[in-house]
Amino acid sequence: MKRGSGFSFHVTVVIAAIAFIYFSTVFVFIDQWFGIWSSPGMLNAVFFTVVAVMCISNYALAIYTDPGQVPSSFVPDVEDPDNIVHEIKRKGGDLRYCQKCSLYKPPRAHHCRICNRCILRMDHHCVWMNNCVGHANYKIFFIFVMYAVVACIYSLVLLAGSITIDSPKDDQLSEGSYRVVYVISHEYFLFFSNFSFVNLLKIYSC
Ligand SMILES: [Zn+2]
Ligand SMILES: [Zn+2]
Repeated sequence: MKRGSGFSFHVTVVIAAIAFIYFSTVFVFIDQWFGIWSSPGMLNAVFFTVVAVMCISNYALAIYTDPGQVPSSFVPDVEDPDNIVHEIKRKGGDLRYCQKCSLYKPPRAHHCRICNRCILRMDHHCVWMNNCVGHANYKIFFIFVMYAVVACIYSLVLLAGSITIDSPKDDQLSEGSYRVVYVISHEYFLFFSNFSFVNLLKIYSC
């Protein structure tokens, strides 16, 4: 059966965004605010690393976990098993048939055109994961989005702190280099907060 999950351009963009946010947060924002080798600097770096590791591991799990496929043995619970149904009923009917997979679909299962198969309790196909969000990876996806939100807020606080602090490290790196890091970070924050909140809205609107 064809799988839709794995690496793609969008997945590479997300990994690059997570890597950039991680390195700029730890080695620029934390270093600028506290100094990376100070106690508060080390403590924040450890906490942020834990959040980042949880974020990326749940992201990887969400990508590679099968969202849930309809078992080929699935037969709708009908009184007359000889009653072959050709009609696709979208609403109200219990018997739903996917003509592309040649399978009966349980309630809330939908055919994904990108994954080219029916997905159990399909939520949506996420291009940023190159995988569907469905029955088997829904919880992992939700945890990933939660960690992404926490990481964004945490990083934003550190960014704000590093901007407001008067650090002696200003002399070590030119102002222009910092500005570039901050501008790119701002773009990534917009992208990630948009991604996280759009997905949270999708989850809660189900
Ligand atoms: Zn199908
Ligand atoms: Zn899909």
